[in-house]
This record gives sequence, C-alpha cells and structure tokens, in this order.
Amino acid sequence: QAKSEGRNMVRFFDPQMQSVVNQRAALETDLREAVQTEQFELHYQPQIAAGGRVLGAEALLRWTHGRRGAVSPADFIPLAEDTGLILPLGTWVLETACAQLALWAGQPELTDLALSVNVSARQFRQVDFVELVLDILARSGARPGRLKLELTESMLVADVEAVIATMNALKAHGVGFSLDDFGTGYSSLSYLKRLPLEQLKIDQGFVRDLLTDPNDAAIAKMLIALAATLGLTVIAEGVETEAQRDFLASQGCLCYQGYLFSRALALCRFEEFVKTQRSLAAGPALA
Ligand code: C2E
Ligand code: MG
Ligand code: MG
Ligand code: MG
Repeated sequence: QAKSEGRNMVRFFDPQMQSVVNQRAALETDLREAVQTEQFELHYQPQIAAGGRVLGAEALLRWTHGRRGAVSPADFIPLAEDTGLILPLGTWVLETACAQLALWAGQPELTDLALSVNVSARQFRQVDFVELVLDILARSGARPGRLKLELTESMLVADVEAVIATMNALKAHGVGFSLDDFGTGYSSLSYLKRLPLEQLKIDQGFVRDLLTDPNDAAIAKMLIALAATLGLTVIAEGVETEAQRDFLASQGCLCYQGYLFSRALALCRFEEFVKTQRSLAAGPALA
C-alpha cells in the first residue's frame, strides 16, 4: 500500500509513532494560538533567605488551555524552543516580569523584591537580545538591578566570547545572572570563573536525596564551596524538607526555593505570602 503512494513519500507505519507526531502537531497549533491570544500567566515561587525573609521570586510560566487545562512547562517549553515560539513567548515573559517589578517598586512592602526569569538558549542567542532586554526594562520602568536572568550551562558552552559579551553588556546596566540547574552540565572551573555570574542555583536533582545519598551530599557541598570560591551567591532549588534546608545551611547555602516554603503562586497569592511573612517577621512591634 505504501509503495503505491510513491517512493519519496515519508510515511509512518508505526501507528504509535504516528500518534505522537499528530499529538505534537496539535500541541504546536494550540501553542501558536496561545501565544497570539496570551493564554499564559506568570506564577511566582518565593526565594527565601535563611531566617525566613522573602528575597523575591522565580517567575514560572503557566499555560492554561481551554480544553487541555494546565499544560506543564516541561511539555510546552521544549516545543516552544523547537518551533521558535519561545521568542515571542520569552519576550512576553520578560515584559510581564518587568512590568511586575515596576509595580512592586511603588509599594513600600514589596519594593525590594527581585525577580528571576528563565531564558532559553534560543532567546539568549538572538542578535538583538541585549537591546530587547534593555528596551523592555526602559519601557517598564523596572530597576535593572532587580532582574536576574537564569541561564543554563548547556547554553553557555557554545561561542563563549559572544556569551560573555552579551552578559557583560546587560551586567553593565545592573542585570544579574544566575546559573540554573547547576551541576547537571559540563562547566569547568576555569570556564565558570570567566562568566560574569552573580549566583549559582543548585539543581533540585542534588537536593532531593541529600540526606540519604552520600554522593548527592558530597556534590552539593562541592557546589556550595565552588560558589564561595568564585565569589558567587548560591541558592538551592527543590528544597522540600527542613532537614534538607538545615544541611544546606550547615554547608553555607543560605538561600532557598522549594515546596518547604511555597509552590509557585499566582500573583495575588504571592503578594499575600510576602506581606504575611513580613508582618510576622515584624512580630510584636505590630501586635
Ligand atoms: P527550572 O527553571 O529549573 O524551575 C524549577 C522547577 O522546579 C519549576 O517547575 C518548579 O515549579 C519546580 N519546583 C520548585 N520547587 C520544587 C520542589 O520543592 N520540589 C519539586 N519537585 N519541584 C519544585 P516548572 O514550573 O514546571 O518549570 C519547569 C521548567 O520549565 C523550569 O525549570 C524552566 O526550565 C522551564 N520554564 C518555566 N518557565 C519558563 C519561562 O518563562 N521561560 C523558559 N525559557 N523556561 C521556563
Ligand atoms: Mg529556573
Ligand atoms: Mg532550575
Ligand atoms: Mg531544575
């Protein structure tokens, strides 16, 4: 049957594979429409200092589709990257995050909050990425020093000089950089020290079994020591228990993000979280 359709026809005979291809095409159609009609929202996962103070948040993209419901970033981010849709989507994320920073700046209780924003490789490699970010900052009125861009190791290894130039151009305006999922890539020490980073973010894969897996504990210790050596701050992601937090603290990691403190929250719930935490910290003075 396939033969009668011609030699050059590409056909999938495996119905399961065909169905994967169809599902992906359908998701792409929906994603394209979602970008045009702005079906996205940013949620905010608190970043907490030892002692409990909320320093800011990581902005995490949420997509709720009419029929599909909530679609996980793990499912749509890779597709957005493959199709190039990450460019308009990433711009929307930056615009929304900066607009939010500007709004917080005007509220005394929230004025010092910082935001970490995930940037994908394809976005970062846009020729006009520096201008794009500076333009968004300028138009929003957000303070560049409150914006931190999360990069991953894999996106930094190609064309190191260009990467450093892009980072330096933004750093000159106050924008900070955090190395996300740290420990899962290939960065060498000599390479890392050349990057104008502000922060290393320990991947949750090392935090999860910190107390039961001696290898993970050793790696976490090493990453924290490495951050100190390089003069960088360090934050652990995926902190779910007090025991994990205490171990990290004992090694000198004093900044955390994870379900122990909070999941990513819709804007108004995040703001409530910050205000509640801060009024509790103010404690007896308010009572
Ligand atoms: P990531 O940047 O490493 O973000 C951390 C992920 O871990 C988030 O998943 C967060 O909800 C989850 N997480 C936080 N605390 C805990 C915890 O205590 N336990 C566990 N098990 N998980 C925790 P999420 O929101 O599903 O995002 C997944 C990934 O999608 C992100 O990983 C990031 O790579 C990507 N992503 C999310 N938003 C954006 C975006 O705006 N732009 C880009 N380019 N990528 C994004
Ligand atoms: Mg991240
Ligand atoms: Mg991460
Ligand atoms: Mg991660």
